[in-house]
Amino acid sequence: MKVKLWGVRGSLPAPLLPEQQYQKSLTNLKQFHEALSTDPNISPEKFLNSLPSYMSKGFGGHTACIQVQTSEQNIIVDGGSGIRKLGEVLMCGPCGLGRGEVHILMTHFHWDHLIGLPFFVPLFIPGNKIHIYSVQDNAEESVRTLFKKPNFPVPYEALGAEFIYHTLEPRKTVHFNDLKVTPYQLDHPDPCWGYKFEHNNKTFSYCVDTEGTRVSRKELGEDLALYQNVDVMVFDAQYTFLEATEKVNWGHSSAPIGLDIAMREEIKKVYFVHHDPAASDEKIMIAEKQTRDYYKTRLKALKQQEAEFSEVDWEFAIEGTEFEL
Ligand SMILES: [Zn+2]
Ligand SMILES: [Zn+2]
Repeated sequence: MKVKLWGVRGSLPAPLLPEQQYQKSLTNLKQFHEALSTDPNISPEKFLNSLPSYMSKGFGGHTACIQVQTSEQNIIVDGGSGIRKLGEVLMCGPCGLGRGEVHILMTHFHWDHLIGLPFFVPLFIPGNKIHIYSVQDNAEESVRTLFKKPNFPVPYEALGAEFIYHTLEPRKTVHFNDLKVTPYQLDHPDPCWGYKFEHNNKTFSYCVDTEGTRVSRKELGEDLALYQNVDVMVFDAQYTFLEATEKVNWGHSSAPIGLDIAMREEIKKVYFVHHDPAASDEKIMIAEKQTRDYYKTRLKALKQQEAEFSEVDWEFAIEGTEFEL
């Protein structure tokens, strides 16, 4: 199973401002200048590739959209602004000119998970079939709203593709060829459903958007399975830990909450996403450092308590991150 994160920003697309782009270039050029003094032969590419990705590229500004692929299946989760670029890639894909069927699982219908759909070109190709899956039973109404005049020039009825809506049952597994998918409820208003993907004895959980108000096994109850026997998890870390304590009921979490769950449930790898649109790359880096400190302290405490837990590999994801499991 291959996963690509096409959008890791939360709430609102947040492109790098020209001034931020300038400062990033300036910082990198100054460091390159320093690097040249110790290694006169270092190439610009080698230098940039030696930096952490968020310093050379930034975290990215597009909102929620991911792609899960197996040899037999291609699934998209959410239609945030990240889906526009994915649409371009599908248009050039093996089907040619973007013809075929598309399967989109929706976690919920907040704008940041929906707003890219009018710019997803396969919707405009006659003959295409667009399958939309959600636990909520109002998906069609939400998608139609996007194309209502005067909000968008092309009315829903004039789109070339045919839309087919599927209502999923909570916590009931659906088979997409060789891929099993099960929705579990997250802690988010309106509400929101995460997805657990299983393929060839590997499991990936997508847990966005969530506040992580339920952490203990007892609190998670019938949604605990979303976090158990999981190889890789993508988790909501919109806020720093301090912000999360201030923004109660805002529906988003911080990395330490996801780490606590991952350490207890022996999740091997966690990617933190849904970065706050108001957070600069530098602020996200600070949140990552705070999380690093928290993780070290927590590990030490758990070892002293001789508690059962596992060490977790984790990172704050940048847009375009791909992994295979
Ligand atoms: Zn969101
Ligand atoms: Zn939301």
